[in-house]
Amino acid sequence: MPELPEVETIARGLHTRVAGDAVESVWIGSRQPPLKSPAGVIARTLEGKRIVRVHRAGKHIVFDLEGAARALQAKKGGLGGGSKTRQAASLQQTAQWIVHLGMTGRMVVSEPAAELAKHTHLIAKLASGRELRFIDPRMFGKLSVHAGGFDPGGVEPLEVSEEQFIALFHGRKTPIKSALLNQKLLRGVGNIYADESLFRAGIRPRRRAAAITREQLGTLHRAVREVLREAIALGGSSISDYVDADGEEGFFQLQHRVYGREGEPCLVCGTPIRRVVLAGRSSHYCSKCQR
Ligand SMILES: [Zn+2]
Repeated sequence: MPELPEVETIARGLHTRVAGDAVESVWIGSRQPPLKSPAGVIARTLEGKRIVRVHRAGKHIVFDLEGAARALQAKKGGLGGGSKTRQAASLQQTAQWIVHLGMTGRMVVSEPAAELAKHTHLIAKLASGRELRFIDPRMFGKLSVHAGGFDPGGVEPLEVSEEQFIALFHGRKTPIKSALLNQKLLRGVGNIYADESLFRAGIRPRRRAAAITREQLGTLHRAVREVLREAIALGGSSISDYVDADGEEGFFQLQHRVYGREGEPCLVCGTPIRRVVLAGRSSHYCSKCQR
């Protein structure tokens, strides 16, 4: 599943390509993934809107939209059809389109002639002539629209202060790994980066958050941000089947120090990396470096 750095990379890529463009029309397939907003509402909200900005909130891609229906209508002249819905959409001046990629979701910017990938669930035709396509073979992705001010909950790990971070985890009875994955606390930290951060901070995944000193939580705060920043700088580390906004496969991969390295020697001390299952997720750690 794409984590924060991957989603950040994809959102930046999309911003570069489609910001300033406008959505002329939207097609949503009938074998669509479970959408969080009704298909008709998504189409009506998107159509006629200008894409002001694409950014990330937690693991969501957020398209900030602005009403540009009038300009579009004038350009299109009297094509007729759907003018009522266009007018309705234009009444709502700003909106947000939220895309959660789930396990295998992809957003690609394509030329209209480009072959339609299997499992394409949505096509937004853009004023520039290109198409924004949402493809999702396993259909765990989620699409929704909001009137604005979308709040995925939790705090951005790259924006959280040390004090805030300590307050979030201090006194929690759950294992620190589970707390890191709790999206209501920090948003966007997933399994890989939780394991990597805990390794760098020298904390075992199963340790109860309440048993961790404020000083160690401070170290963890720095480790989380360091790991995420490095991964973003590398363009997100891809382990599953998705591509960036250009449709290109293969991100650079942050060298994992513990994640997915069960039985392999710790890069610091040589002790074989261990794997335990915590709340149904694999956790990797070094029993010597992490306490
Ligand atoms: Zn070690």
